[in-house]
Amino acid sequence: MQTSVHSRNYSSHIHQARKRILVAGGAGFLGSHLCEVLLEAGHEVICLDNFSTGLTRNIARLNHSDAFNIVAHDIVLPIELEVDEIYNLACPASPPQYQSDPIHTMKTCVIGSLNLLELAARTGARILQASTSEVYGDPHVHPQVESYWGNVNPFGPRSCYDEGKRCAETLFFDFHKTHHVEIKVVRIFNTYGPRMRPDDGRVVSNFVVQALTGQDITIYGDGSQTRSFCFVDDLIDGLIRMMASSASLTGPVNLGNPREFTIGELAEQVIGLTGSRSKIIHRPLPADDPRQRRPDITLAIRELGWRPNVELASGLMQTIDHFNRLFTRTAPDLAGAI
Ligand code: NAD
Ligand code: UDP
Repeated sequence: MQTSVHSRNYSSHIHQARKRILVAGGAGFLGSHLCEVLLEAGHEVICLDNFSTGLTRNIARLNHSDAFNIVAHDIVLPIELEVDEIYNLACPASPPQYQSDPIHTMKTCVIGSLNLLELAARTGARILQASTSEVYGDPHVHPQVESYWGNVNPFGPRSCYDEGKRCAETLFFDFHKTHHVEIKVVRIFNTYGPRMRPDDGRVVSNFVVQALTGQDITIYGDGSQTRSFCFVDDLIDGLIRMMASSASLTGPVNLGNPREFTIGELAEQVIGLTGSRSKIIHRPLPADDPRQRRPDITLAIRELGWRPNVELASGLMQTIDHFNRLFTRTAPDLAGAI
């Protein structure tokens, strides 16, 4: 197995005993990095994916390992496997992607989580849910603490994802109470890095691709809305620490970078780091776009000894390198997808 193209600095926190680990959504952006790190730690990894937003090229390098298996499957359908741990990352995360088939997004969040929880109950596997900062909606509490119940529109364009993920959390906690399943719920805040798709639609990949290809940089609204951007390596370290934490820690635990930027500041950073001559244009703000978002990570620091280490400029440079290599290796028209 080849190593990753960008350097990683993971904690020695990774489990020692070899386990059989299911990564649902393993061909996606986060899932493929997680599969890679788990394999490097000596585990057997089953990557389950319906390839709706995931890509075979994300996991192509892992296929050389005997300890890596790919199962093409949609979690909306039940599955029978023997596993020790389950990471549920299966769900499109980009607003344009999860809104393109909102009913399937809701089914993925609810029926998909139910199927994986039933698998966990039957096998005794510990199961981690990739929940999201979207459960806080357009938050009235800032920064967001885990005890905040959120401000979510139940029938807007983002609802299939926000309410789906909220319902999934409910299912996780009810399986824990009713069937004593060992659950781990993390709420992930905006995470970016290599292996995002050029046509993903989220802000970091959009801006980087636009900057590298000389297209206009599309700020939605006036750019004063904020997000807090976490680099993928930091996030994966947090997921692994959470899975390895004591059984009593169910979460929810926020995982994200507490440095907050306006979208306008992000655009300026991307232009500066790429040396691009792209100009900034403004497009209408999508409905229900959250005004601000920043995690309170006190709980993650205390319970997991976790905090992000990668500064935005450094993470953006690694992401820019990724897209540069992708466009050089394939064809510049790949970039035309956004
Ligand atoms: P992604 O779209 O790159 O990955 C999702 C993966 O799940 C893809 O490989 C996709 O093909 C697969 N998938 C989708 N629906 C499926 C289904 N029904 N059955 C099987 N596979 C399915 O997104 P990502 O950024 O890697 O996000 C991974 C997880 O983390 C998601 O659950 C997302 O909600 C959560 N999350 C991500 C972020 C972030 O900023 N990246 C933030 C909050 C939460
Ligand atoms: N955004 C933007 N231009 C883009 C894509 C997104 O200005 O090309 C904005 C979007 O309106 C939001 C922020 O960037 O305010 C983050 O969007 P993203 O889709 O990455 O994540 P989410 O809204 O789910 O946090």
